[in-house]
Amino acid sequence: MFYIIGGYNNNTLVYLGTTKQTPNRRINWLKSNGSKLDFTVISTHNTEDDMLTCYTNLTKQYNIKPHKNVKITNDIKMNRLGNKAWCQCCFKRKVNIGYTYCYFCSKKPLLIKFSML
Ligand SMILES: [Zn+2]
Repeated sequence: MFYIIGGYNNNTLVYLGTTKQTPNRRINWLKSNGSKLDFTVISTHNTEDDMLTCYTNLTKQYNIKPHKNVKITNDIKMNRLGNKAWCQCCFKRKVNIGYTYCYFCSKKPLLIKFSML
């Protein structure tokens, strides 16, 4: 099973996460990393694709920044390919007008350069 976990601050949804683990293990991990939110399982899914579709919809609905480790499916990629609002390297992050790559991806060429010196 695949789970979507919501984190609430004063009854307002402020965090959305996904996990394949037993949800309580994930929640305990989040708490042990310092989160003070109230966590609950929002939905369960049989497939990862179902979960990701639901997750994407929820992040839009609640205007929550998607977790950066979300797996980008081919469908998501094809939707974002050529769309200037999205990083054309990782397709995971939105970019400002005039940029093709997100801050994270634009650092990659520099890292390669330095490692060649
Ligand atoms: Zn990127």
